[in-house]
Amino acid sequence: MSKTIISLKDVDYAYEKKPVLTNINFDIPQGAFMGLVGPNGGGKTTLIKLILGLLKPDNGSVSLFDEPIGKFKNWNHIGFVSQKSNTFNKGFPATVFEVVSMGLTARIGYLKFFTKKDKAKVSQAINQVGMSDYAHQNIGNLSGGQQQRVFIARSLVNDPKLLILDEPTVGVDNENVQRFYELLHQLNQERNITLLLVTHDTGIMTEHATDIVCLNKTLYFHGDPAEYSSLTKQDLSHFYGHPINLVTHDH
Ligand code: ADP
Repeated sequence: MSKTIISLKDVDYAYEKKPVLTNINFDIPQGAFMGLVGPNGGGKTTLIKLILGLLKPDNGSVSLFDEPIGKFKNWNHIGFVSQKSNTFNKGFPATVFEVVSMGLTARIGYLKFFTKKDKAKVSQAINQVGMSDYAHQNIGNLSGGQQQRVFIARSLVNDPKLLILDEPTVGVDNENVQRFYELLHQLNQERNITLLLVTHDTGIMTEHATDIVCLNKTLYFHGDPAEYSSLTKQDLSHFYGHPINLVTHDH
């Protein structure tokens, strides 16, 4: 039986009595590529914090890998990349290799010496994201899209089973956004990594995601890209709370 990687049941959450999430129910099965969309202030970040155990639901429950979150211990199975990952100081004196190595320090301890096997793992992760030619370049000299690939590699050294990406392509140019999505697609298909991607880019997401969830305080929609594409302008305007222009990508 395939695992349920994330399961939310009847989840409510309020900040100081101001309800932000109400009655949230969904499961993410192993191998899914789930796109999470919604207007600003719709509760996406709060939902991610609940999934990462940084906040506790007021009602309902969160399970990870079929275990109640309170009992879950394998946090190294979960990688997280945010849009803020790439707000690196241009002068930050670390190479791509060093930044990716940092993914291992959480596990083997700060400033411990890396074994040959660890170094091979770092090189392999850098290769997987297509950044081998840049391994010894300073991270601060790379473009936003390249930096995000490096941060994915930093997660990959821990062999994650789930990657959570919070608007990772903000500030990345169009061509590199395409390449970034191709990388995600490859990780999902070839390494069977389950993906949860928060994004505003619904057009490109519908090309790659297997499931789409629309969140605005409550869950408005959960379905596959074909069902999402059949939503009308009125459906989306109701969901976003204002008129909306549909954005589609030509193939
Ligand atoms: P999104 O990520 O979809 O933009 P958020 O989860 O960040 O949405 O925010 C949902 C709502 O909760 C917003 O109205 C926001 O102002 C509020 N909020 C977020 N964080 C806090 C906080 N730490 N304290 C109080 N209110 C918050």
